[in-house]
Amino acid sequence: MKPVIGVLGNLSTVEDGAVTHAFVNQSYIEAVEKAGGIPLVFPVGTDWKSTAHLLERVDGLLVTGGLDVHPFYYDEEPYQELGAILPNMDLFHIEAIRKAVEMQMPILGICRGAQVMNVAFGGTLFQDLNHIPTMVLKHQQAGSRTLGMHYVEIEEGSQLRKLIGARVMVNSMHHQSIKEISPDFRVVAKASDGVVEAIERKEYGFCMGVQWHPEEMIRVSSAMKPIFQSFVNATRTENIGGK
Ligand code: MN
Repeated sequence: MKPVIGVLGNLSTVEDGAVTHAFVNQSYIEAVEKAGGIPLVFPVGTDWKSTAHLLERVDGLLVTGGLDVHPFYYDEEPYQELGAILPNMDLFHIEAIRKAVEMQMPILGICRGAQVMNVAFGGTLFQDLNHIPTMVLKHQQAGSRTLGMHYVEIEEGSQLRKLIGARVMVNSMHHQSIKEISPDFRVVAKASDGVVEAIERKEYGFCMGVQWHPEEMIRVSSAMKPIFQSFVNATRTENIGGK
């Protein structure tokens, strides 16, 4: 039986408010399938307390990318460059992550997903990298989403380093990043300008967040496949899906 991977859904923002779409990017679905998992998209419910019931039906949780996190959740006022926010979606994602950690479920967070993981356990974010004088690399790339943009240096002794090596090229589609790391996590990769690019939860099976988008890169290269493979394999070995 293949493991079932919960994929946290997103909501679209529509300017006139007439229609809101529930969605995930297809690249997440394909990446989970390529690694041998069955993706199951979680809609952003209006009753976030029911998240636990959904989580009991899956073996791992993929926290997808998307909009900015409301700075309310890390005790900051919103700056002008903050992007579109959906606080109810933030709360849904935060609660889902906390519950999944409580269940000791394997978790992979991507881009916003890594940021929400950090915020869910007391970390903070830079609301806009353009205002940090030292953080000068091109973190919001133009052109293809599969394109490698900048290098990241990966810490010795981390799970991530065992999977993809010490120094790799990654794509970059973010204007925010992790500022203060949650005490429950450690930084395991940085860009050369100091931007946090990956985190891992301390004393846990598989709980990793990456600031780049491996699900896009594996469409054209196998370099990032070990991240998804290790995530899905962790669901099999840890076998803590609650079913
Ligand atoms: Mn970056």
